[in-house]
Amino acid sequence: MTVAIPFDNTFAALPERLFTRVAPTPVREPELLAFNHALARELGIAADTDEATLARVFAGNEVPEGAAPLAQLYAGHQFGQFNPQLGDGRAHLLGEVVDRHGRRRDIQLKGAGRTPYSRMGDGRAWLGPVLREYVVSEAMHALGIPTTRALAAVATGEPVVRETVLPGAVLTRVAASHIRVGTFQVLAARGDTEGLRALCEHTIARHYPQADGPQALLDAVIAAQARLVAQWMSVGFIHGVMNTDNCALSGETIDYGPCAFVDDYHPETVFSSIDRMGRYAYANQPDIAVWNMAQLATALVPLMPDRDAAVEAFTQSVHAMPEMIRAEWLSRFRAKLGLTAEDAGDAGLISELLDMMAAQGADFTNTFRGLAEGTARREFTDPAPFDAWEERWRARLAAEASDPEARMRAANPAVIPRNHQIEHMIEAAVGGDLGPFRQLMAALATPYETPGEPTLAAPPRPEERVAATFCG
Ligand code: AMP
Ligand code: MG
Ligand code: MG
Repeated sequence: MTVAIPFDNTFAALPERLFTRVAPTPVREPELLAFNHALARELGIAADTDEATLARVFAGNEVPEGAAPLAQLYAGHQFGQFNPQLGDGRAHLLGEVVDRHGRRRDIQLKGAGRTPYSRMGDGRAWLGPVLREYVVSEAMHALGIPTTRALAAVATGEPVVRETVLPGAVLTRVAASHIRVGTFQVLAARGDTEGLRALCEHTIARHYPQADGPQALLDAVIAAQARLVAQWMSVGFIHGVMNTDNCALSGETIDYGPCAFVDDYHPETVFSSIDRMGRYAYANQPDIAVWNMAQLATALVPLMPDRDAAVEAFTQSVHAMPEMIRAEWLSRFRAKLGLTAEDAGDAGLISELLDMMAAQGADFTNTFRGLAEGTARREFTDPAPFDAWEERWRARLAAEASDPEARMRAANPAVIPRNHQIEHMIEAAVGGDLGPFRQLMAALATPYETPGEPTLAAPPRPEERVAATFCG
């Protein structure tokens, strides 16, 4: 049997210097670990496809009809340092489909073998990061945050050598596109204005059809990224590697590596083992999003007839972004406090709560969820400052429309993918037990509902705390 996927590829029609056509490298023994049937239906993938076929196709062992596998070229600022050539070192774009809602989506294999951009890498992924991305990206989607999706996870039956020998796996991810700031940067750095123009037109047609040129594209991406980073902040998400090659023009969260959700809140929280300077710490994310947009603006300048005028106009666009993020942040956190009307004191009320949480290491998720449940006070070892704050907050709430608890439950998730649960899930999966993976996926599908199993909402016990996360 084979699988019918209604491919309709357009990226492959761009100048060939933007990618290399390369087929995935087959693996020894593909075994389907997880498949997202609901997403497959959305994509128009035949529902009656048997598991063995899905395993072969989503391991890269069989290239389905209509696919045109390729690895994309891009550059990027990694931790602020410009790398003029990166590219998909372990990813193969199979192609695009137009889904049931008329949206164009990329289908990409991650971990399916080497490409011309692999440098020293093996082109592979191990099971841990594959299941981690599967769980976290699907959780982000359920939280209502723009993100790439997970379609399939396949075990390869081959070992992957990292610090130890680990089981290999391939993730299939689905994205509005994989066009990154770094895709523009690579062309700008090479002085390839013609390529830049083709990419700009492609990106506009695909993501922002109302945009009438580079300036409007920049403004649209800035707006999308401002919304996105505010949404991350509102759930305590730390991306971990906000390099410009991991910043998608579509405004989706992309590239789940050492990402993590904060448990006990502190604005300087960093999990990524390679982020030694804390560049991508929780509270730095808005500034970094702005910095990334400045890099996009720089890459777009060569497209403008009057470069000096463009620099001035683009600078204004980028300088407008912090205030946009601030406004998005305020509206998200207002909702978290159950507030609908705007009051000049709101920003202060929110910041005071966050400051108290940071001072006492209160759990981010459970403190906010606890505002609706009446359990927030428990998150503070010294409840006195919280009590004083709560009194002022209640007074402010009294002026609001009825049923703030329902509004707060809809704005404050009860379950998020916590690091220690992810680690536990990975450990079990390496041992052959996918039970914890399935249990996590089930709870995270409805994050705004109180889970039946209370441990799913519990912060880590001291011995369960995860100090660092890795790129995989
Ligand atoms: P990331 O930090 O995940 O965005 O990766 C940065 C770059 O390294 C990307 O171009 C990846 O394709 C590449 N890369 C990461 N891991 C591997 C690997 N195991 N083999 C080949 N390339 C890799
Ligand atoms: Mg990346
Ligand atoms: Mg990556």
